[in-house]
Amino acid sequence: MNWFLVTTNRCNFYCQYCQNEPHPDLPVNANWDLKQLKEFLSQDPNPTIAFYGGEPLLNLKLIKEVMNEIDAEHYTIQTNGWFLDKLPTEYLVRFSTILISIDGDKDITDANRGKGVFDKIKENIGIIKEKGFKGDLIARMAVSESADIFRDVYFLLNDRELGFDHVHWQLDVLWDDIDHTRWQNLDDWIINYNNGITKLVNYWLEEMQKGKILGIVPFLGVFWNILNNKKTTLPCQAGLTSFAIRTDGVITVCPLPPEYEFSVVGNIKDNKPTDVFNSVLIEDPCLTCEVYDLCGGRCLFANKTKLWGEEGFAKVCGTVKHLIFELKKIKPDVEKLIENGIIRKEDLNYPKYNNTTEIIP
Ligand code: SF4
Ligand code: SF4
Repeated sequence: MNWFLVTTNRCNFYCQYCQNEPHPDLPVNANWDLKQLKEFLSQDPNPTIAFYGGEPLLNLKLIKEVMNEIDAEHYTIQTNGWFLDKLPTEYLVRFSTILISIDGDKDITDANRGKGVFDKIKENIGIIKEKGFKGDLIARMAVSESADIFRDVYFLLNDRELGFDHVHWQLDVLWDDIDHTRWQNLDDWIINYNNGITKLVNYWLEEMQKGKILGIVPFLGVFWNILNNKKTTLPCQAGLTSFAIRTDGVITVCPLPPEYEFSVVGNIKDNKPTDVFNSVLIEDPCLTCEVYDLCGGRCLFANKTKLWGEEGFAKVCGTVKHLIFELKKIKPDVEKLIENGIIRKEDLNYPKYNNTTEIIP
């Protein structure tokens, strides 16, 4: 199972879409007993530990203690990248995946996340590669109104110095209780976004025709199921096989809604992993949706809360349906490329473990 460990609720940034608002009632730093966590996770035969925050590296001491004490199948981390150079080599090289928050080039990243952020990320990527990090390096974008999906993903895929293996994005939608807080014109933006997705799918295919499979996570994750006629469950696995452990030791379905009642499923002191396994399930409208088998419900939090109402929820679903539609269109072309040996089918199989990319943006 995948366990997000919230090491701290503090962050050194003040990003546009998050606004650095830690929950006032939760301990700033994790205050559970490490022995208790070890005992809890020892009951999961294949744990993956995903360090999360706040900015998880602000509690580097705890990360080191956990990695000293607990032998996870995979360690992953979602970080803003600022302190990556502080991660000692012996720990750094044990990470299977590092996800760095970045939105595109210097202009858009610094505008969203703060001046100097882009350059610092670039410098720190150089440092971790120099120190021997060989795992999967993922650009994790928050896509908001200033984003141009084709331009920004293209940039992150092709900037050699950054050298990302994969690019993933999540739309900045359905989080706020006030409708469209950060959006001036969502409807027009969605039209442009969908056009950008079409362009990106075509670019993805063109590169495959040259024998290169670009690491576009939402495409890879969905396309594998299209190719194999497979049905998916919620790709992020929140509430199924993926959970978060809050700084107070309470277990929630994922790190983002720490205070919602539906999200709280137990705690590491009184529960076992099997108590929470498959405990919170996606509901309608997803179960009766025509693309449910490939979407899986997109986001458990959005499905349960519908903070933008049915109409806002449906608008976002329009982007999912468009992405799936465009990927289905290229299936015959990709099958031919596989048949002709231009690409290998197995190279489209990604991710092989829950690396905290939610697949559906
Ligand atoms: S497209 Fe929307 S309604 Fe359909 S399964 Fe996905 S999230 Fe649910
Ligand atoms: S997609 Fe939604 S439910 Fe899944 S991890 Fe992200 S916020 Fe949580």
